[in-house]
Amino acid sequence: MIIGSHVSFKKDEQLVGSVKEAISYNSNTFMFYTGAPQNTSRIPIDDSLTLKAKKLMDENDIDINNVIVHAPYIINPANSKNEDFNVSFLKEEIKRVEKLGVNKLVLHPGSHVGLGKEEGIKNIIECLNKVVKDDMKVTICIETMAGKGTELMYDFNDIKYLIDNIKIKDKVKVCLDTCHVNDAGYDIKTVIDEFDKIIGLENLKCIHVNDSKNDRGAHKDRHENIGFGTIGFDNLINIIYDERLKNIPMILETPYISKKDGEKEKIYPPYKFEIEMIRNRKFNNNLLEDIRNYYK
Ligand code: FE
Ligand code: FE
Ligand code: ZN
Repeated sequence: MIIGSHVSFKKDEQLVGSVKEAISYNSNTFMFYTGAPQNTSRIPIDDSLTLKAKKLMDENDIDINNVIVHAPYIINPANSKNEDFNVSFLKEEIKRVEKLGVNKLVLHPGSHVGLGKEEGIKNIIECLNKVVKDDMKVTICIETMAGKGTELMYDFNDIKYLIDNIKIKDKVKVCLDTCHVNDAGYDIKTVIDEFDKIIGLENLKCIHVNDSKNDRGAHKDRHENIGFGTIGFDNLINIIYDERLKNIPMILETPYISKKDGEKEKIYPPYKFEIEMIRNRKFNNNLLEDIRNYYK
């Protein structure tokens, strides 16, 4: 099982800090943003820190081929009004990801913001065709979305159409988010078969493992802790342990747990505990309390 979570990437320690955080959760992979997800200001990558991080990864059985970078979600490839910015930022981000030695970049395909679905999809394809190069080492993984607002790519048929229309083949693949596919209307029990039938499992390169706060088809996109949402522990375990998916990195993006500390409310990461529960294959109803007690 290749499992990890979203971790931070901070100025002073960069990738070293991300690896340390992943290790503290007993992960063997992780995902991070190279800067704040809601903006595009990025610090230069320090190669000496990257080298140090790679040593730490080697010592802890983390294969960098399973590590994921998530592109900032403020870029909207579906909106051609920002095309120049989208293309130039994505190109820079790919360079940064390559410099770090990571080879998977998850990208939200974006929202059509009133342009209509067809126009939006056309824009995404045009943007990607400008970004994708023959010699690039990074695979862009389009994330399956919930269909909130005018969000595109919640329908597997659209994703298939998109990847079929990328001129340079094999550089654009898919990241499946369990919360998003549930909210998009797919039945979690059969969603992997459905994905295989329409897109093909050979195109699946990353899985985001999240429970959902909302019912199937709600088009909402609000993540819940593993086993505490409408998808449920057993359905998530069936996906995580699906033999066909055993070489695909699985990334948790579940919400932090809040805890009152006097007047203040503090939040703590659930990942160490959720990963342990997943490895044990046994639901812990007391998980959230256990987390609050651990972080004293
Ligand atoms: Fe995402
Ligand atoms: Fe996700
Ligand atoms: Zn989400």
